[in-house]
Parts: sequence; structure tokens; C-alpha cells
Amino acid sequence: MIRIIANDGIDQSAKEHLESLGYEVDTNHYEIEELKAELTKTQVLIVRSATKIRKELIDIAKDAGALKLIIRGGVGIDNIDHEYAESVGIPVRNTPNSSCMSVAEITIGHMFAIARNIFISNVTMRNGEWNKKQYKGIELNGKTLGLIGFGRIGKEVAKRAYALGMNIQYYQRRGKAEGFDNYSYVDLDILLSTSDFISVHVPFNKGQKPLIGEVEMEKMKDGVFIVNTARGNVVDEDALVVMLDKGKITAAALDVFKEEPLKNEKIMNHIKISLTPHIGASTKEAQNRIGKEIIELIENFKF
Ligand code: NAD
Repeated sequence: MIRIIANDGIDQSAKEHLESLGYEVDTNHYEIEELKAELTKTQVLIVRSATKIRKELIDIAKDAGALKLIIRGGVGIDNIDHEYAESVGIPVRNTPNSSCMSVAEITIGHMFAIARNIFISNVTMRNGEWNKKQYKGIELNGKTLGLIGFGRIGKEVAKRAYALGMNIQYYQRRGKAEGFDNYSYVDLDILLSTSDFISVHVPFNKGQKPLIGEVEMEKMKDGVFIVNTARGNVVDEDALVVMLDKGKITAAALDVFKEEPLKNEKIMNHIKISLTPHIGASTKEAQNRIGKEIIELIENFKF
């Protein structure tokens, strides 16, 4: 029987479906030391972002010879040494299409939260404060949103923001995208200097320096708002705190962090940052779609 470990959990209906197809599905969470032993008798390892699959673990799995496939339930595969795994014959797959809508929605949610001080009101009102005068916000309507990265998620954010009356401009490594005439393709410097809101939707590759650091932040419009639902390392956290403190950036919203769970107290306690604990893809719908994509990947895999 083919044994699957879903180390960071899996949608219940996907688990039941896989079991009905004859697979053994273990949804216990194993710490890395325990996982090393489990992988000697497991053919498929499914993870989300919490489990880090590094070279050492891959070497043990390779030597044991049982592991045939690693699946990342989600998009970013930076928690897996995927190139190494592939080089030793263990393919790595992900489920890129399942979570775009959920991540786009949380991005828009964060934009409203920082434009209207919703996030900070939730903190100060619980302390008995009534900061009605201080919390004058701005509308999203009529503002320019700069999207860095215009792939699956960037496009879904654009669609929603456009419907809210925002002007959309985007920059991506792939250049201008065909069929998006309502939006402007601009180079990075123009995007940085002319956007009221900036949202990043690019992957992070291990060892890469932050795409948005101090230099890029200095180029931004005074009073800009920033949202990062991509990966913590894409926006330099130290530079962000400096720019928030000096008022260059009005407010930021972060779903992802350099270190997760978040430990950086400067970020955690900053009154100008709206925080969520990497829940961009954590919706019932996305997890259900991820489950279906995982079943397809396993069913189509030649063991
Ligand atoms: P995608 O591959 O469809 O699009 C990536 C985009 O980034 C493309 O437009 C590409 O051209 C651009 N790009 C890549 N490197 C770039 C660079 N150096 N400079 C400029 N543009 C660059 O990816 P996607 O599905 O839209 O996902 C984007 C990212 O969102 C993922 O890589 C992942 O890190 C993140 N994500 C976060 C969550 C969450 O829970 N918060 C969930 C899913 C995905």
C-alpha cells in the first residue's frame, strides 16, 4: 500500500477520498527528527509552508529509497530544497492554482485595513480608546495600486482593485502581459515613485536579497502604503520599520515574515503594521481546491 504523510494537514475530504482510493494517509505532524524515521516507509510527503524539507532530510529519504514524491500544498516551494530533491530523483510538485483567489482577497482586506485604520482600531478600542479624530483614512477609489509581480495572484488582485476604482499599474520580470489593456505596464522605478499602494506578488528564492529594500523604499512616493502577502524576505523588514518610523511609509500590511512564526518584536509591536499569521491561503475553499489538486497529482503519478 502507498503511504502518504500530510505533515502539515490536508483537507478532510481529500484525506477520505485518497483513503477510498486505497492509499494510507497519515495526518500526524512529525518534527524533523521523527520525520526522518517515517520517511523510510513513506512514498509521498505532503507539506504546506510549516515543514522545512532541507538537504539533510532529502538525503536520508534518498538513502532509504522509499520516498517517490514531495508535494507542496500551495504555491511557494521555498520551504523545500526542491532543486536538490529533483537532482536526486525525488520530484517536487505544488498546487499553484488553488489559492490565488484567497490570497487576492486577503490582500484587498489588508489594503482596506491600513487605508481606514481598521487594524489599529481593533487594538486601541480594546484599551478603551476612542480615537475618532486620529483615524481619518483614505479611500481606495481613485488611488494608484502598483503590483510587483503579475502572475496568478497579482492578476486576481488587479481585477478586484480595478473594480474598486483603483488605477492599476504593474511590473513583472516577464514584461508586459497581453490582454490587460485596463492596466499599465511600467518599469520598477516608475511603479515605486508613482503608486499610492504597493503590493508584492513575486516568489522568493533562497539566498536572494529582498526585492524591496531601503533603496527601493526611498524611491517611493511619500506616504505610500505597502502590502506583502508574498514572502517575508521579499520586503526588507528592518528597512520597513525605519521607513514607517520616519513617516515615508504611512502603513504596511504583512501576512508573511522573514522568520515564521513571527518573533521580530519591532514588527510585532509596530502600530503602523497590520498583521496576519501567514493565512493568505487559509480559507475553506482554497484548502478544498488544494486537496483536489493533490489527489490529481498523486493519481497521475507513476509510482
Ligand atoms: P506566479 O508564478 O503566477 O507569478 C509570479 C510573478 O512574479 C510573475 O509575474 C513573475 O514575472 C514575477 N516575478 C518573479 N520574480 C520576479 C522579480 N525578481 N522581479 C519582478 N517580477 C518577478 O506566482 P503566484 O501564484 O502569483 O504567487 C506569487 C507568490 O505569492 C508566490 O511565489 C508565493 O510566495 C506567494 N503566496 C503567498 C501565499 C500566502 O499564504 N500568503 C499563498 C500563495 C502564494
